[in-house]
Parts: sequence; C-alpha cells; structure tokens
Amino acid sequence: MDARERLEQQRDETRRRLAGLTGTYEAVVAASYDSNADDEHDPEGATIAFERSQVGALIRQAREGLAEISAALERVEAGTYGVCERCGQQISEGRLEARPVARLCIDCASRV
Ligand SMILES: [Zn+2]
Repeated sequence: MDARERLEQQRDETRRRLAGLTGTYEAVVAASYDSNADDEHDPEGATIAFERSQVGALIRQAREGLAEISAALERVEAGTYGVCERCGQQISEGRLEARPVARLCIDCASRV
C-alpha cells in the first residue's frame, strides 16, 4: 500500500469516526435539553455535561486528525511527502507506516 492509499484509508476511517461522534454528540445534547434544567441538583445532568465535554474533545481530535491527513495528502501531491521538515532526511518507512501524517523523522521528533 503506498502513502496515498494509506492516507486516504485513514481519512475515510477518521471521517466515519467523526460522523459517529457527531451523531453521539447530538444525541447527548438532545438528551440534555430533555432532562431537568436543574443540572446542579440532578446527577444525571452532571453526567450528561461530562459526556458532552468528552465527546466534544474526541470530535476536536478527529477534526485535527483530518486536517493533518489533508496536509499530508498535499505533501504527496507536491512530492515532499516522507521528507523530514526539519533536517530534510527521508523519514523511515516504518515510521510512516505507524504514523502516516508524520512531518519529522524519528530523530527530529525525539528532539522536539
Ligand atoms: Zn529530521
């Protein structure tokens, strides 16, 4: 599997995850409207608020992941994919397999 296929696959997975999370988020928000407005004295209200912030954080992560994946796909187009942005060395294939959106080689990444 080449870099583009790997990135496209990861993008599709992330999109699916994001769609699922968005659905969950909307369900949680809807549930919080249905529940008693008296959150402070309602243990269920507090749980819903907690779930909402958890799901919100996961959605942010997924969106950031998608942005990284599109940036990596642009690098594939530009022919600069897999080249370390700091030292200009080729990033190892093993690292790109584990982390297709990597911008730095393992040496530079460990120095950050
Ligand atoms: Zn480097």
